[in-house]
Amino acid sequence: MILLPGEDSILFLVLDTESSHGRYSKEYKKIRFNDLVKFHGHACDGLYRGSYALSVALHDLFPEDIVDRTDLRVVSRNSPCLGDAATYLTGARVRFGTQDVSSRSGVWYIVQKISTGETVMVSEDENFFPQKISDVEASLSSLTGSKLSESLTILKNMQDSWVQSVLLKTEPDEHYHAKRIEYEWNEVPYRNQGIRSDIIFKNVI
Ligand SMILES: [Zn+2]
Repeated sequence: MILLPGEDSILFLVLDTESSHGRYSKEYKKIRFNDLVKFHGHACDGLYRGSYALSVALHDLFPEDIVDRTDLRVVSRNSPCLGDAATYLTGARVRFGTQDVSSRSGVWYIVQKISTGETVMVSEDENFFPQKISDVEASLSSLTGSKLSESLTILKNMQDSWVQSVLLKTEPDEHYHAKRIEYEWNEVPYRNQGIRSDIIFKNVI
């Protein structure tokens, strides 16, 4: 990931194949944070935090900063936001057995390069995300009516404000840390799993 000045500041470079039975593409693509928002549906704190965390893990696996989206599998918490960031930025999908979830709390990912088995675990610093925002999130399930409506507005403002005034003022590796781990991928229990046919011929000259 490259952090650029300005509004849509987060940029990833990714490599894919060139067709349904294609070789590796000769060119990489640029993915801006706003592209990720179009896929996920909204620019939430989870999408930002997931992007920051993944950028650290992916830089560790791809020091040239061109992410091979044909060669990755990922585990995260089953958050809509964290999981979508992983799917879009790595090419991992449950239906091809390359994406899985675990109940471990927090913002973290296990990212594995399929071809080599190299695996990185990345985690957000504890207490980086303010507890008071998490407390408001946790309180929502006990609220109804106007109290719930009011809290939803307060929560979104708190999240947006933290992203703009704290997260985006930092470099990803300040609060997200990767370490290499030994990791044996467990088969993802999904009975409709198929073969990802668009990467089979990627190495054909
Ligand atoms: Zn989200």
